[in-house]
Amino acid sequence: MSELIQIDGSQGEGGGQILRSALALSVVTGRPFRIGRIRAGRPKPGLMRQHLACVEAAARIGSAEVAGAALGSQEITFTPGAVVPGVHRFQIAGAGSTMLLLQAVLPPLLLSRQPSELVLEGGTHNPFAPPFPFIERAFLPLLRRIGFDVEATLDRPGFYPNGGGLCRVVIRPANALKPLRLEVGEGAKPASLAALVCQAGLPRQVAERELGVVRERLGLAPEQSALEVRADAIGPGNTVHVLAEADGFSNVFTGFGAPRVRAEQVAEEAIGAAARFQASGAAVDEHLADQLLLPLALARGGSFTTTEPSGHTRTNADILREFLPVTITTEPVAPAVWRLQLDTQFSP
Ligand code: AMP
Repeated sequence: MSELIQIDGSQGEGGGQILRSALALSVVTGRPFRIGRIRAGRPKPGLMRQHLACVEAAARIGSAEVAGAALGSQEITFTPGAVVPGVHRFQIAGAGSTMLLLQAVLPPLLLSRQPSELVLEGGTHNPFAPPFPFIERAFLPLLRRIGFDVEATLDRPGFYPNGGGLCRVVIRPANALKPLRLEVGEGAKPASLAALVCQAGLPRQVAERELGVVRERLGLAPEQSALEVRADAIGPGNTVHVLAEADGFSNVFTGFGAPRVRAEQVAEEAIGAAARFQASGAAVDEHLADQLLLPLALARGGSFTTTEPSGHTRTNADILREFLPVTITTEPVAPAVWRLQLDTQFSP
């Protein structure tokens, strides 16, 4: 039995990502861990419903024994067994993010020699989480470039706070894995911009005002912007996505609609984030940067340029070092651009 890895859940960024990365890495490596002080610095510390759902889902995928998994718990011990590929349905009550749950369960399935299908129910377009279009257009295309065989489809969107969305993720055995290299300019250089507005249960003119703003501010032709109005969602919701289309993937910048926030402001949120990124000249944005680390560590490593490494990126790098033989370095290469390099001795 390998030694128990001890993790301080309040280190660095101190949020749910430490837990999700630890769960995924534990199942991949077969190494047990204990995490204490889970989300200790947050207003409601410990496991919230969405974190508990991640623990339970990872335990199912990894045949794990878990001690301490309860709402509000600040410490769990997770002892993984064999990976269980196949069809799994996971439901998060309310609008807990299915896209965050995916972070906890996808890595071991990417490496399995058997196919899997995940049916995920809950939130799909949540603030403070990757919305579905980000996973579909930013994250998964880059995983496919590494050699992983994974696709996601959205059956029904689930917006905060009602959730109730449904998406499917199909994973097939990986092809030959190769390092990912995304250098300055490759991602951002005059990337062509596009926009997507997703909406349910709100007057159509909200989405049309948003489209009007993104078209005018970004100089988009009508065919460069799309409107997805869904009648089947449970409860209202609205997101605006600006897509900076690079070579086979897009960086995705999102504005989240909320009660009493004007449509114009939601559109500006996405436009502003995209403009700051475009001005930097980096290949991937801060969210993609923290989310790419784990798949890179499981494949052949690689490097990419990004904007200033965020707390999420630095903390995720620290968790990776606990579980895997990786070297992760960051160096500034231009005024607002850093190169992140990950070398790994891990072989799946
Ligand atoms: P945590 O705050 O620890 O629960 O982690 C949140 C995760 O969601 C991180 O991987 C973030 O990069 C990701 N995330 C947050 N907001 C966005 C966004 N607007 N687009 C894409 N990913 C996001």
